[in-house]
Amino acid sequence: MRLALDEAERAARGGDVPVGAVVLAPDGSTVLASGHNEREVARDPTAHAELLALRRAAAALGQWRLADCTLVVTLEPCTMCAGAIQQSRVDRLVYGARDEKAGAAGSLWDVVRDRRLNHRPEVVEGVLAEECARLLTAFFRDR
Ligand SMILES: [Zn+2]
Repeated sequence: MRLALDEAERAARGGDVPVGAVVLAPDGSTVLASGHNEREVARDPTAHAELLALRRAAAALGQWRLADCTLVVTLEPCTMCAGAIQQSRVDRLVYGARDEKAGAAGSLWDVVRDRRLNHRPEVVEGVLAEECARLLTAFFRDR
């Protein structure tokens, strides 16, 4: 989560909402890929930290299926990213702050653990939640 927080700070430097993500290999400690929100920089509505990190992890592994991998992200994923998490087959999602307004991993929806879906990753929330939320609060306060 510390690495994801570093990524989030990079997003803020580019004028993007500070959200960062890291994908860990099946061993649980090797970093396969990372990413931060690049919507403004890339002018791409889909350039969320999680999506970029998942794409890079798949490229690094040479396969789309990220079984046994862990996605660590500073903010609860939105519906788009929850869908991508589902599609990537990562086995664990770890996130920091909850997103009560748009979260799709326990707050507004729980897409990733929807029992109607055939793949449901384990979800661990609240890791360094205050630090993750503080970055966001500071970013919006400064705007
Ligand atoms: Zn998202």
